[in-house]
Amino acid sequence: MSGNRSNLHVAAARTPLLQSLQDELAELEQQHLIRRRRTVDSAQGATLQAEGKELLAFCSNDYLGLATHPLVVQALQKGASLYGAGSGASHLISGHSRAHMALEERLAEFMSPNVEQARALYFCTGYMANQAIITALAGKDAAVFSEELNHASLIDGVRLSRAATKVFPHKDYAALEQMLKACTAQKRVVVTDSVFSMDGNIADLPPLLALCEQYDAWLIVDDAHGFGVLGENGRGVLEHFNLKSPNLVYMGTLGKAAGVGGAFVAAHETVIEWLIQKARTYIYTTAAAPALAHALLTSVDIISGAEGNERRAHLNKLIAMFSHGLNLQLWQLMPSITAVQPVVIGDNAAMLNIAGNLMDHGYWVGAIRPPTVPVGTARLRVTLSAAHTELQVHQLAQAINRLDQMSYVAQCFAEVA
Ligand SMILES: *Cc1c(COP(=O)(O)O)cnc(C)c1O
Repeated sequence: MSGNRSNLHVAAARTPLLQSLQDELAELEQQHLIRRRRTVDSAQGATLQAEGKELLAFCSNDYLGLATHPLVVQALQKGASLYGAGSGASHLISGHSRAHMALEERLAEFMSPNVEQARALYFCTGYMANQAIITALAGKDAAVFSEELNHASLIDGVRLSRAATKVFPHKDYAALEQMLKACTAQKRVVVTDSVFSMDGNIADLPPLLALCEQYDAWLIVDDAHGFGVLGENGRGVLEHFNLKSPNLVYMGTLGKAAGVGGAFVAAHETVIEWLIQKARTYIYTTAAAPALAHALLTSVDIISGAEGNERRAHLNKLIAMFSHGLNLQLWQLMPSITAVQPVVIGDNAAMLNIAGNLMDHGYWVGAIRPPTVPVGTARLRVTLSAAHTELQVHQLAQAINRLDQMSYVAQCFAEVA
């Protein structure tokens, strides 16, 4: 069966249960909130094939272009020939392979300048890693302080922990301090994204960490969009701010800048040992294919080496080019020095219209709506990658400028009429 829109309307309900889902889907459709998948026929990259067209893609999180790096692809193939296609079991039974162990040791060594007595643990996904850390460190008797704009995987981890939860306003650490002061729970856990995934701005970690140390709280940092990209050597946000503390629990994902998949937690060895004993999303799941871990060893080599430096320098040049190249009358580019460069349009239908227009011109940008972002702030989420050329980024900025100008003029006429 195809997944196109007409199915929602024409399919006759056969049962009241189906009917209620169809009614709710129709409601979403009316609010322009139905999400659709586009099938990609090529590998990831600056350009890709989708729906019979060649598109310039500015929507992936493959920030360093490693998803198609020949050495990473080769390592994945080698990993499959060495270890087979699947791991066969969970880590605590017989699924923990030499490749997983080597990756964890490599990541611990890489992160050690910014992590006290560093040890690392590899997870199938960042989503699962976040569930693991939060539920293992915060139980029913704990208090969790969660940043307002945290990623869904952190929010779900907080819910699953059953801890008393307080949400603090975006980057408002004075408000957080009041909450910590008033807190009587012994176990305290503060949870934040480093780079906010839909805004591109960076949490102010130095004062946040100082607060956590002062009030004896863990600080869980989700660096999905920082690992590999931020910091001189790619060690992410901790290197960016030059931080190191036993209170820090660091989560980096490996499906974005590292180009493969999975995630890792880096923390004091005691924390990692605790996760191995307690984290249910680590214990009760089949280990990721060892070949992925084998490929990731090559990703980490590239990230931490001279080529990583070159790719980060190129990416940073593109980020500056894009933000300087935009000249918007109607829409707003959010302030961001990272590869996530969102252009806020506001209305869902208007934003979808613009994203569709860009697509017609061969540009694929992320089209982000509520509930992923607050109501009224639908946005184009442009993501840049070291795989892009300067010309490609220049062309995108020009295309967005043109559409903004046209919408601005249309709005002026509408106001006059
Ligand atoms: C992508 C993302 C995750 C989830 O990581 P996966 O490995 O894709 O499951 C977690 N946190 C943030 C901020 C992310 O952007």
